[in-house]
Amino acid sequence: ADNTKIVTVNPATGEEIAHYDTYDFVQVNEILAEVDSAWEIWKKEDLCHRRNLLRRLGEEFRSDREYYAKQMTLEMGKIRREALAEIDKVAMYCDFYADKAEEFLADEHIPVAGAQKSYVRFEPLGPVLAVMPWNFPFWQVMRFAVPNTLAGNVTVLKHAAEVTGCALLLEEAFKKAGFPENIFRTLVIRGPQVKPVIESSVIRGVTLTGSVGAGSSVATICGRSLKKSVMELGGSDAFIVLEDVDMDACAPIAFKSRFANNGQVCISAKRFLVHEDVYDAFVAEQKILVESLHIGDPLLERTDYGPMSKLESLEQIERQVKESIALGAKLVAGGHRLDMSGFYYAPTILADVTPDMPVFREETFGPVMTILKVKDEKEAVRLANDSPFGLGGNVWTTDIERGQRVAAQIETGSVFVNSFTQSIPALPFGGTKLSGYGREMSSYGIKEFMNAKTIFVA
Ligand code: NAP
Repeated sequence: ADNTKIVTVNPATGEEIAHYDTYDFVQVNEILAEVDSAWEIWKKEDLCHRRNLLRRLGEEFRSDREYYAKQMTLEMGKIRREALAEIDKVAMYCDFYADKAEEFLADEHIPVAGAQKSYVRFEPLGPVLAVMPWNFPFWQVMRFAVPNTLAGNVTVLKHAAEVTGCALLLEEAFKKAGFPENIFRTLVIRGPQVKPVIESSVIRGVTLTGSVGAGSSVATICGRSLKKSVMELGGSDAFIVLEDVDMDACAPIAFKSRFANNGQVCISAKRFLVHEDVYDAFVAEQKILVESLHIGDPLLERTDYGPMSKLESLEQIERQVKESIALGAKLVAGGHRLDMSGFYYAPTILADVTPDMPVFREETFGPVMTILKVKDEKEAVRLANDSPFGLGGNVWTTDIERGQRVAAQIETGSVFVNSFTQSIPALPFGGTKLSGYGREMSSYGIKEFMNAKTIFVA
């Protein structure tokens, strides 16, 4: 592949949007040197100053939300309503950390024998490389960058090639908010050009959100150069529906969890494990909901569902569905491309799925709802854990004690009882098993790239 050029494509039309020359080795090294110098100053700024700038960044996103949202829709097909909501969430997140900064970063006093004073100070590590995916082009990046900027780290972004325009807008937003130069920089490079960046002495840590393949390859380089890393990788979350479910509450949330963002969410429910007593009702409800979707141009207000981000993702989903049907899955809805320009795949429901099928074994990063029938709670838990992934999960029951008992048995980074898996700034977010390691958001996330320095005064 030619790593010297990036061409972005509008997935709703298949037409080219823009051409970029990637940065060469010399340009990348110049940027890294600038970032390093900027950090030397930024780390010494007081928290109050950093916090004020962060609030201005939130205001910048809020005041120009249409501008930022539209770039996402053009580059990766997110429907307008969801793109605007993503920008609003970023703005809210800036305020969340601005409010909490002092509390989260306060010294931790731990009295010990022999010391007048003993405590932990949290100091920034330095420039951190963020390798990011295209599915939430603003949120994924800011999920990392907001707490880290506040804590005194600086960000070097390597965004997914598909959303190069968004990557450059992020850099622009920091400038417009009044941040000093080089606190947030975008590198226009491809995956294979990441290795020397990680190896550069300027980079002190790496955070990656993306596929298992990308994570494993980047983590290997980090391991060899002994750089701390955080990995937010794929998921195949279970959505357990027990026989005592409130179906009216559950059905629309199950649907939203699977088909939001045109089916391309790491924490969307992917394997629906439904008790045999409520199975037929669940499948019937989902079919009705799929048929009610307004499919079309993602730029329009009325559109509920748009294209997939790229042709390769569509082809992958097509294969997973085809192979699963050949193994006996029942096609309830969709299962084919739509007769439109661009990368549209019909929202699809597969019922009577069994654990040997690709839609169960692999992550389905697209609009396919996979439904299995289970005979009891025990079987549901066993199947939920029968996955190489461990990101999130859901349990639906009107008995909330039972819900928590089931939640405790699921091997993932989070479980939501009677809700869908979501990222909430006050709560830690991350995975286990192949879904990765480390946490983002909350008081946990802000400390991943900090030096917990012990001070002992005899
Ligand atoms: P991807 O192909 O892994 O790409 C993610 C990023 O990694 C891109 O910037 C990509 O650059 C880069 N990359 C890929 N291979 C690389 C390599 N060998 N070395 C260095 N960088 C590399 O993932 P995607 O298709 O964009 O996103 C989908 C995946 O992300 C799904 O598995 C999804 O579940 C996961 N995800 C996880 C979370 C989470 O929070 N856990 C959130 C969202 C998505 P190029 O564009 O240049 O190839």
